[in-house]
Amino acid sequence: MPDLVDRLVVAIDAKESKARAASKGPWLLDDFGDGKAVVLGPDGEGVIASYVDTRLEHGEALGTLLTVENAAHIADNDPDTVLRRCAADRQILKSHLPGRTEWNLDSDGDHDFGCSTCHYDMDCQVVVNNGWCPTLLSLAAGYGVTEDGG
Ligand SMILES: [Zn+2]
Repeated sequence: MPDLVDRLVVAIDAKESKARAASKGPWLLDDFGDGKAVVLGPDGEGVIASYVDTRLEHGEALGTLLTVENAAHIADNDPDTVLRRCAADRQILKSHLPGRTEWNLDSDGDHDFGCSTCHYDMDCQVVVNNGWCPTLLSLAAGYGVTEDGG
């Protein structure tokens, strides 16, 4: 049962770690108007992302700049944005952690746990053992984590 939650926490931790290691945001799109762009750091200082080949030709670097669409995507996923998303996802996870009622096995016998929020029976004041809730499964899917080990 806890494997899915453990793998989801690892995935959130990894995303947060990468965001914390990246250059500080906000990241800004600098559109050159010809379909090409770069991503700059706060206040337009420093290049966060562009594409330039490492080969030189006649002393000039080869390669092309990012497309506007790719640069916009990179800028929209700056570290502050990612860290906010991870914090929100941790709150969602916390609200949908599995709970267990030992005596109340699911009628089909497939689960011995349920979501402590979605599967809480107010009348009986117990967690109904319905397994993973759709919210937690969707949250996990967003990180590429699935019930079957993905
Ligand atoms: Zn739930």
